[in-house]
Amino acid sequence: MNFQLASFDPQLANLARKALADSRLAWESIDETVFHNQIRVLEAFRAEGVADTDFFPSTGYGYGDRGRERLDRVYARVFGAEAALVRAQIVSGTHALALALFGVLRPGDELLSVTGRPYDTLEKVIGIAGEGAGSLRELGVAYRQIDLLADGSPDLRAISAAIGPRTRAAFIQRSKGYQWRKSVDINSIGRIVAAVKAANPETVCVVDNCYGELVEPREPCAVGADLVAGSLIKNPGGGLAPTGGYLAGRTELMEAAAIKLTAPGIGPEVGASLGLNRSFFQGLFLAPHVVGQALQGAVFLARLFDLLGFPVNPSCAESRTDLIQAVKLGSPKALITFCQAIQSHSPVDAHVRPEPWDMPGYQNPVIMAAGTFIQGASIELSADGPLREPYTAYVQGGLTREHVIWAGLGTASALAAAGLLPTGSTGH
Ligand SMILES: *Cc1c(COP(=O)(O)O)cnc(C)c1O
Repeated sequence: MNFQLASFDPQLANLARKALADSRLAWESIDETVFHNQIRVLEAFRAEGVADTDFFPSTGYGYGDRGRERLDRVYARVFGAEAALVRAQIVSGTHALALALFGVLRPGDELLSVTGRPYDTLEKVIGIAGEGAGSLRELGVAYRQIDLLADGSPDLRAISAAIGPRTRAAFIQRSKGYQWRKSVDINSIGRIVAAVKAANPETVCVVDNCYGELVEPREPCAVGADLVAGSLIKNPGGGLAPTGGYLAGRTELMEAAAIKLTAPGIGPEVGASLGLNRSFFQGLFLAPHVVGQALQGAVFLARLFDLLGFPVNPSCAESRTDLIQAVKLGSPKALITFCQAIQSHSPVDAHVRPEPWDMPGYQNPVIMAAGTFIQGASIELSADGPLREPYTAYVQGGLTREHVIWAGLGTASALAAAGLLPTGSTGH
């Protein structure tokens, strides 16, 4: 790749060349998965007979929206599930996950998180910190969690021991979210599901699939998960979906979630697509490639910031199951500088300086860089982090890897200019 390094400090330019060279092997393996998943998605479109007429908008109730119904079936195929529910009316990933949980759980049931503390926004859905109006806890659903082992793998023995007759749902978070840990890959999800089902075949395995879609050749339902949920402004929307969320899994669980989205007696039969079907289909078609671009960008960032002396997770060579690249910056100033520099290298709102703020649903102030075409879309290059020790930036997305590389270099420059690189790091 011939790229413009002349504007950078020569030491940084050298590190960039080295980081690029060191990324090649991981990039090749990502290319393989992209090819596999592109064909998988294409075959799902062909098998379901996606047609030009599927893109016609529906209005009002949205009865008989053939495109919407076909989109559900295409998603079901891609996610290795019996059924799926893909809707603009699902406002976010948190909403999709809440539908999954409220669909499955009833008063007196227990929810067991088997991958430690769930993502911040789910704490209020579950009611972990307290009662919380409308939470599962208020409904009378008990909650317990099993932490991951020190090496980041699931604690299968503790999981088996914890599952009881009341454990209606086991909750698995695939991506690390705002935590410094390994993400839970598809093989590990398969092992968790096997352990759960052995302890209680009636326990439903629900997976928070956010940021994981199309990163590996298979999805959680292919290894036995009952229900997955996520956001369309992350991976599966391919950068084109302007809003929305999805669930995929067993038919009766999908029905239960659809009832929570609409109303008893209505379920999945309504919901005007308002002309969004085309973006949903086209976004899913592009998603394998776009996810690959984001992953290749993340691999480069991992190597570059590693060479600069920052702890990174995962490393450049580790296999991945989600988009998130964590970089431990060590101070509030470095975290803020990092996010502001990512923002200033964005195609949209590059002039905006993000500041930490108290986001709804989060425990600490969060700084978020998202100079995106779709508000808050994190399949586009974005970086964020809660203002708490050890001041880790979580970077994800990027519609093109070239953008991620360029923004990474600009961010390294900004940290260097502010004297925020680890001492003695440049030039090695
Ligand atoms: C983004 C995310 C969510 C919540 O998604 P929103 O669309 O922001 O509501 C849940 N879990 C994980 C792991 C996520 O990354």
